[in-house]
Amino acid sequence: MSEPHQDRAKRKLLAVFAHPDDESFICGGTLAKHAAEGYDITLVSATRGEMGRRMGNPPYLNRETMAAAREQELREACEVLGIRQLILFGIRDKTVEFMDEDGLAGRIASLIEEIDPDVVLTFHEVMGGHPDHCAIGKATTAAYRRAERRGSLYFITFGDAMSRPERYGHTRNAVVKIDVSAYLEAKLAAFRAHRCQTEMDEWVWLPDREALSRFGRHEYFLQADPILPAREFRDSF
Ligand SMILES: [Zn+2]
Repeated sequence: MSEPHQDRAKRKLLAVFAHPDDESFICGGTLAKHAAEGYDITLVSATRGEMGRRMGNPPYLNRETMAAAREQELREACEVLGIRQLILFGIRDKTVEFMDEDGLAGRIASLIEEIDPDVVLTFHEVMGGHPDHCAIGKATTAAYRRAERRGSLYFITFGDAMSRPERYGHTRNAVVKIDVSAYLEAKLAAFRAHRCQTEMDEWVWLPDREALSRFGRHEYFLQADPILPAREFRDSF
């Protein structure tokens, strides 16, 4: 095994999200790609997603059974994406925004210190959409600043909105555009692992080739602290 490969094998990525499925639906291709390239990936899911509105199709879950089912689905998704460690904070779904912000940031900062990641991924505290997303993104950003470790912080973004970042007040320099075309099978498998959330989406269950054609070739991330002026998208963390 060559030196560069060994170095690469030591690289670490910490993703801090809110719900089971955030990792697969938003950036499953990128996680699968980095796992395949030797990154040691740790995923934090703040909640177990027990307040999800989708209960299977036809519905077979209820509020009592949902948390365990979604945790199991998340474990299966981690398996297909190559995520090695899964940490569940056990915060009640839809209540992340009501958690003590300082305490939550402290918990994440401890993880950053322990893991010493090269890459931290989370939601943008404003563009995250769902209140749980924004809250975990805000706490992770605060934790990243507090920990003062090496490594870089990136925000996940939805779909291909950041293919034209100027529209949202960002420069191309701040955007990382990851080509995930070789990892779409893993991404589709992760979608299917989250069965109770995807059963209502007929396209997910079409024959593979048709389902795969629904995915974009790229996933986009915003760098928290872009430094170098550049005109084009970067293509790696
Ligand atoms: Zn979510």
